Amino acid sequence: MGPKMRMTQVLSVSDISPHMKRIIVTGNELKDFPSDKKSAHVKAIFPKPNVANKMPKLGIYFGFKQWMRSYTIREFNPQSMQLTLDFAVNDHQGLASNWASNAVPGDHLGIAGPGDSKHPDLYAESHLMFGDITALPAIAGILELMPDNAKGDVWIQVPEEQDIQDLVAPANMLINWLVTPDKLTGDFLSALASQKTDLNNTAIFIAAEASVVKQLKAHLNEHCQYDKTKLYASAYWNRKK
Ligand SMILES: Cc1cc2nc3c(=O)[nH]c(=O)nc-3n(C[C@H](O)[C@H](O)[C@H](O)COP(=O)(O)OP(=O)(O)OC[C@H]3O[C@@H](n4cnc5c(N)ncnc54)[C@H](O)[C@@H]3O)c2cc1C
Repeated sequence: MGPKMRMTQVLSVSDISPHMKRIIVTGNELKDFPSDKKSAHVKAIFPKPNVANKMPKLGIYFGFKQWMRSYTIREFNPQSMQLTLDFAVNDHQGLASNWASNAVPGDHLGIAGPGDSKHPDLYAESHLMFGDITALPAIAGILELMPDNAKGDVWIQVPEEQDIQDLVAPANMLINWLVTPDKLTGDFLSALASQKTDLNNTAIFIAAEASVVKQLKAHLNEHCQYDKTKLYASAYWNRKK
């Protein structure tokens, strides 16, 4: 049996920064959606562009995956059945980003999942986190889940200054904003290379474009000692020529 798929409708749309749209969806089918999955992902199921009724088709059928993309649970309120998703927009054209850019209250969105929470160990001795704007919702959620005594460094790449968000984080989680429109920035690698090489007690989160993730993993494998069970490294998107 595949993942449960639920139909939802857009409740509100807001621009939280030049490159981030916050969309809250709701609907009765969210009544048994798990409430402890902040920072985990769902598969959002989009309607085919240019179809008149703008309804996503739920279910498993030939080619169904082309209408799905991964998005992060920024918040879920089980009382009001409101699920908050943040979409990176205004920097590429794609099924999901175009849908989000044009979404209005009442539009339909399918939701499959959720998956598992992303950070390998919220209670690790220290943390290292790297993510571009697509991982900002996950990093923001993880920081909110960490215990107060968590310590470590976070690097978040955003296209411009106004995309920087006020994050709620433990005092000793130091957040470094990298402001550059270059999503394939080598800054994450320089930051990782500046760390100590004994990372055995460090939980590491990496989420960015596939080649960036690959570079960071290669660096870890070549130069660092780390615990594989404390590493989450995931390609959040793939640059296609
Ligand atoms: C576990 C997980 C959680 C994720 N959570 C979020 C989230 O909360 N918010 C979010 O915004 N994204 C998130 N992403 C990333 C998102 O799924 C991808 O960016 C997705 O490809 C966007 O789909 P699209 O239909 O807009 O573009 P696609 O149709 O997939 O791609 C169209 C073109 O745009 C390029 N492209 C795709 N994404 C980007 C990008 N971000 N920047 C520049 N070029 C791009 C592709 O290379 C391709 O050339 C997550 C990914 C994963 C794996």
